[in-house]
Amino acid sequence: MNKNVFYRKIPKVDILLEEERIRQLICRYSKETVMESIRKETDRLRAFIGKCEDEKEIEAAIGGLTDAIGQTVEEMHTPNMRPVINGTGTILHTNLGRAPISPEHMKRIAEVACGYSNLEYNLEAGRRGERYSHFEELLCKLTGAEAAMAVNNNASSVMLILSSLAKGGEVVVSRGELVEIGGKFRIPDVMEQSGATLVEVGTTNKTHYDDYKNAITEETKALLKVHTSNYRIVGFTESVEIDELIGLAGEHELPIIEDLGSGVLIDLAKYGLTHEPMVQESIAKGADVVCFSGDKLLGGPQAGIIIGKKKYIDKMKKNQLTRALRIDKFTATALELVLQEYLSEEKAVKNIPVLRMITEPKEEMEKKAKNLVRMLRRTGFAARFQVMPCESQIGGGSLPLERIPSYAAAISPEEMSVPELEEKMRHLPVPIIPRTANDTILLDVRTIDSRQFKVIADQFRSM
Ligand SMILES: *Cc1c(COP(=O)(O)O)cnc(C)c1O
Repeated sequence: MNKNVFYRKIPKVDILLEEERIRQLICRYSKETVMESIRKETDRLRAFIGKCEDEKEIEAAIGGLTDAIGQTVEEMHTPNMRPVINGTGTILHTNLGRAPISPEHMKRIAEVACGYSNLEYNLEAGRRGERYSHFEELLCKLTGAEAAMAVNNNASSVMLILSSLAKGGEVVVSRGELVEIGGKFRIPDVMEQSGATLVEVGTTNKTHYDDYKNAITEETKALLKVHTSNYRIVGFTESVEIDELIGLAGEHELPIIEDLGSGVLIDLAKYGLTHEPMVQESIAKGADVVCFSGDKLLGGPQAGIIIGKKKYIDKMKKNQLTRALRIDKFTATALELVLQEYLSEEKAVKNIPVLRMITEPKEEMEKKAKNLVRMLRRTGFAARFQVMPCESQIGGGSLPLERIPSYAAAISPEEMSVPELEEKMRHLPVPIIPRTANDTILLDVRTIDSRQFKVIADQFRSM
């Protein structure tokens, strides 16, 4: 086969640029990306002609050049980061963006972020203000703390607290609390980065008051408690609570720091879950500095919230590291909005998506699952659809043993395998991430907003 005949059939760039479809692409996107795509696609076509031995296939590839260029340009201009539907039933899914923000809050965030705002401007005084001012009072009111601030995430909180209060000194922490949180965040490593030396006391399962007492030296700068939110040692265990450490800390004038991980402001036991230590309780017990995540059980934006005694928080606000870890206007706005919801527990549970998903009764889930199944059956997709009981989990390293009774739409495909369907679902325009169990695909409705049901059904129809 004489390949030169085909190479010569590839349209030249100036010819391509005159095609209507290409002209439209330039108008809609940019000349630069269209040119780049033309180069990329003609190179690809040349390579294809080089190795293909089927004339028909080569002709088809040449005929499809414009389409291929269009597709490449469109891909370049389509954001890769996109919404997905979470059918896994894991509420704080670390890989799927952790806590969803409420659409009402997002509207307000957009209003603030699209223009100028009083982020660091005191409107009363007409001069420079503080970015924490928008939510500091609220945090103090809700938690009983004297002062508050926020940084980028809770790992930053730990780093900033230790760097401000214990740099160059020692920090005493129980061996049973030296946790690794997902993504290789290890408390001991963060401590080292902050310039504080870790002094481990006790054993994995037991730490006593005397262990802390005997570890205190001239170099000790703080006592650290870490809430091991992502695992539980059960059985023969003992740990020392903050209220038991107060006397000891006071005697040596050492701050007690507590990293709570998930920040819970309401009593989850009221909703049938295990009681998770509340932020208010830590402050009431006498912790001097407490930190927690903004986007775990609190249900807000990614942030690390630090509260406690004013003299310590002031030190952190002055630390140069704060500048590197500071939150932006999106976070500041979102934090104030989510914290305001907590002024009424009833409102918080209704308006904060994470809390709503955690507390919705299973009867509600059954109704939701029935609806989804009904809609899926009408799509004509070749599968058996059923309502099936299942269990949701909290995720995000919070309450690891907790299982919340829920319901799912169970899908058993008839013309493809479960892995095949799972892959297809991942490649939909709005990807659907399911849970797979015993050769069925489960869509746990607890983590799916009913408003997404139509999108799910339409996409199943399109498959
Ligand atoms: C999750 C967690 C962190 C880290 O919080 P991020 O907001 O993910 O940075 C730190 N400490 C504890 C105990 C945690 O559970």
